[in-house]
Amino acid sequence: MSIKVTNITKIYGEQKALDDVSFEVRGGQVVGFLGPNGAGKSTMMKIIACFIPQTSGSVSVCGFDVTEQSIEVRKKVGYLPEHNPLYPEMYVKEYLDFVAGVYKMDGNRKKRIEEMIEMTGLQVEQKKKIGALSKGYRQRVGLAQAMIHNPEVLILDEPTSGLDPNQLVDIRELIKNIGKEKTVMLSTHIMQEVEAICDQVIIVNKGKIVANETTEIIQQRSGTDNIVIAEFDKDVERIMLSSIPGVKRVMLVKGNTWKIYSSSTEDLRPAIFNFAVENQLMVLSLQKEEQSLEEVFHQLTKTDVEK
Ligand code: ADP
Ligand code: MG
Repeated sequence: MSIKVTNITKIYGEQKALDDVSFEVRGGQVVGFLGPNGAGKSTMMKIIACFIPQTSGSVSVCGFDVTEQSIEVRKKVGYLPEHNPLYPEMYVKEYLDFVAGVYKMDGNRKKRIEEMIEMTGLQVEQKKKIGALSKGYRQRVGLAQAMIHNPEVLILDEPTSGLDPNQLVDIRELIKNIGKEKTVMLSTHIMQEVEAICDQVIIVNKGKIVANETTEIIQQRSGTDNIVIAEFDKDVERIMLSSIPGVKRVMLVKGNTWKIYSSSTEDLRPAIFNFAVENQLMVLSLQKEEQSLEEVFHQLTKTDVEK
């Protein structure tokens, strides 16, 4: 159920969309593929799904090479394109039957279509033409077609873009559930989405990978200071807080709540706690501030002008 991308470069005419990209996704993971517009996300996904050929490098999916064994890869992969190209004139079931036909599915076709309709929550809308569905329901049809042949790997290009908040929650839940049994690679612009459903995060910028870590590690990734937010029961003098060993600077947030910046990666909380005890202060709260994924993303993908 794994995906292995090795030294992939894709050039469209004069435009280099991917530049020597390598990464690996282990089976049974949900991977978030992040990057600004034009970073190369859709291009990478199309190559993995055998929709376009790479210029150089290789990709294997479940051990099959996308160039040499594309038929095998197509059987293993379900793909939801960015601009989900459904046929508006077709009815939901008719379309799913058409897709099942493309995959040459046999006897259990009807049953499988029913299963997909149920799994993606399409029951109430199943009698409509695709053109009459809302964006959220069209996305569900897209997911249903991507999964109809029970692929081991799902490639979802911005599966939640344009959905309203309720639909967003539903579709995320659905993807999370799918991720329990399959390998899912999804692209998105929404950081909370990655935090909510992804095990691994790959960030691309201008056709190159700039980060590839577990979601947990990337959230902890330093690059800024180690920060602790401390609330005391009484007024504290700035100069006293600044004198705590390891403290680089302090900032008053509000009332008796301070942001305390460490000069190293060491956790400041024990020192702050000791300081409070020594000065007869009560600590009302003491929390490490984690750098948000959004900040990490911004750091890694900001343009040269911003740097
Ligand atoms: P993303 O999905 O991250 O927004 P894309 O993979 O769609 O990025 O695009 C990467 C770069 O390749 C962009 O600069 C885009 O304009 C260019 N590109 C994408 N498809 C084509 C194409 N068919 N022909 C020429 N350039 C393309
Ligand atoms: Mg795209």
